[in-house]
Amino acid sequence: MNGRNIKIAKILGIPIKINISWIFIFLLISWTLAIGYFPSDYPGLPKITYWLMGIISAILLFISLLIHELSHSFFVLRYNIPMQGITLFIFGGAAEMTEEPKNPRQEFTIAIAGLIASFVLGFFFLFLFFLTKIYYPKPALLGVFKYLAIINFILIGFNILPGFPLDGGRILRALLWYIKGNLREATRIASNVGSFFGGVLIFFGLLSIFFGNFINGIWLIFIGFFLMNAARMSYQQLIARELLEGIPVSKVMSTDVKSVSPDISVEDLVNDHFFKCFHHGFPVVKKGKLVGMVTIQDVKKVTHEKWKETKVSEIMDRDIEKLIVSPEEDAIRALSIMSKYKVGRLPVLDKGKLVGIIARRDFMQCLEIKVELDKV
Ligand SMILES: [Zn+2]
Repeated sequence: MNGRNIKIAKILGIPIKINISWIFIFLLISWTLAIGYFPSDYPGLPKITYWLMGIISAILLFISLLIHELSHSFFVLRYNIPMQGITLFIFGGAAEMTEEPKNPRQEFTIAIAGLIASFVLGFFFLFLFFLTKIYYPKPALLGVFKYLAIINFILIGFNILPGFPLDGGRILRALLWYIKGNLREATRIASNVGSFFGGVLIFFGLLSIFFGNFINGIWLIFIGFFLMNAARMSYQQLIARELLEGIPVSKVMSTDVKSVSPDISVEDLVNDHFFKCFHHGFPVVKKGKLVGMVTIQDVKKVTHEKWKETKVSEIMDRDIEKLIVSPEEDAIRALSIMSKYKVGRLPVLDKGKLVGIIARRDFMQCLEIKVELDKV
């Protein structure tokens, strides 16, 4: 489940992002609670109360998920594993580590921390439920607390499935890694189990729909696909990382660099460069010095009528210091810079001189060749 992420906060120095899917999920949760769950659990309340209960529950669920992810992240930071942030989507989220844990023990601790957090949250809401029941038995409060206790336990139930990259899958991977001493093999097995459980969820989802439980069915299918996709991606990522280990930027980059001058017009840029080379971005060079990068996104900032009068220097990205890599650097580092700043290509500079461009596409080609040769 990729797509767009929106940054909403920074906690413990970690950027917290929500996937755009969360807005949809948020509405779906509020709606199913307000229309179906709460009215049948606590009948006779005004409509507006159900909606308030639904929205507050969705917010508290969101906070519960965040606490779960922060508990993982606490240990990720403690073990000095680089991470980009936390992104919340459908059922849970992901502490986005850009490297793997260093040993099975770290993996195990990071995974179990989130489960323990959800366990504590589940009991916390259960405690609130009983406390309210005794001292202040308002159905609206009881309903919300009960739901949150249940949902936190459901979250544990789901996350404990032994399919990577769920927490249970991470625990399985840690154990396999410990037994076999091989991270790749452990990941392969754990993510296959993950795909399997994804398939099982989809199957039960279809079954639910068949027997008339439409909403539950949709949820299960949704989560099943999500899990299958995540399992496949995590394994591919690991393989890519392993294959690229120790390969310098100079081996992956293309040296045939097409640069543009900052003084040409946007119209010339489009006609003579974007349409000719089919690259998505160009380095901008003045008197042999790199002064910026210009991409199709930058071109989109000006309307078509103004292409002629606007110069490349007016639309280019000048803040490129962070994007520069050197030929000796590890190619993996270039890849993580690309995903961190969401760019497709980086300029390669050797002693201040532009010597190449490294693009996502180059990585794909390099990986394909490596995979082919690995088979021999
Ligand atoms: Zn987790």
